[in-house]
Amino acid sequence: MKQFFVWVSVLVMSLLLCGCENRAPERVQSVDTAMGTVIQQNLYLSQSSANCTGEILELIRELEEDTLSWRLETSEVYRINQAAGSGQGAELSEELSQVMERCLKLTEDSGGAFDVTLGLVARLWDIDSWAAGLRTGEFQAPDEQTLTQALALCGSHRLHPESVTDAESGLKLVLYPEEGAMLDLGAVGKGMALDRILEKLQEDPGVLGGTVSVGGSVLTYGMRPDGTPWRVGIADPDDPSVNLGLLSLEGQWCVSTSGDYERYVESGGMRYHHILNPATGRPADSGLSSVTIAAKDGLLSDALSTACFVLGREKGLELAEQYNVEALFVERDGEIFMTTGMEELFQALP
Ligand code: AMP
Ligand code: MG
Repeated sequence: MKQFFVWVSVLVMSLLLCGCENRAPERVQSVDTAMGTVIQQNLYLSQSSANCTGEILELIRELEEDTLSWRLETSEVYRINQAAGSGQGAELSEELSQVMERCLKLTEDSGGAFDVTLGLVARLWDIDSWAAGLRTGEFQAPDEQTLTQALALCGSHRLHPESVTDAESGLKLVLYPEEGAMLDLGAVGKGMALDRILEKLQEDPGVLGGTVSVGGSVLTYGMRPDGTPWRVGIADPDDPSVNLGLLSLEGQWCVSTSGDYERYVESGGMRYHHILNPATGRPADSGLSSVTIAAKDGLLSDALSTACFVLGREKGLELAEQYNVEALFVERDGEIFMTTGMEELFQALP
């Protein structure tokens, strides 16, 4: 009798375990707005209970409020910008310290094409606000003299970083920005969001795989239940509602696109976009319409897509190769160039 009960219990346990393993993954999809852009999530979960998409959205909103916003008094960037010209140092969180170290290196490696201290010039253009319809009336491009004066106050060399070692939280940076050196992390914000999301997904055993896009930056993670690769569309700059091709990606990738069609304002027969050339203070005019970078982390893909857009095809390719990432360039005449590794990921659409 006792043996019979043992066998029955073993049978029931095995059936329960089989049931769990065979349960089809649940697909969760959502579309929201945060960080001034559209957030699309497409996740496959093994446990239906987790509010994973809500937590990811919250994490992006926190990044904006606590770290990135140049408008909100609650953010680190706001606090750093307030310190400009005061002689007072602004201590950065561990996350922002690491981001800034990498951004400063990228400024050096890109010969200054990428520069997160362009805030003053970016505010003069304020293309993001115009493109979002937050400003109305006739757009007036800033005049040459105003731009030259503002540019003289920009530049990463005016941040004066100092490293401090905190016993609890490790290495941190303290910035002593000179007057006018205003941080604008718009070029890396979406990538930073992807890195935070990736960390969250990795910590959650209930997530089997998925994609999350934050504006023009997309994270792919884990496996698709049917074993096929993730597909990420590359928009046609002439008509962004259509894809000119698809990337097929397995596992973890961060794909960022910087394009002149993403945010722009038209005035007097001219079109002004939001990616600025730090040498001129004007929208970059490098012959490109878009650059897509596929890398293993979000900060790199986002920063390099902006940097390569400013540099143009030839120098952009060199920088992408230096950082060992895959890159795809769409020129203004529609011609496409890419790294050899990208050729294996990209398929053009008819
Ligand atoms: P993205 O869309 O990632 O290419 O980033 C563009 C945003 O980054 C702009 O809206 C500005 O806030 C900022 N930005 C513009 N030009 C540059 C640049 N050359 N280097 C760094 N940040 C820039
Ligand atoms: Mg970028």
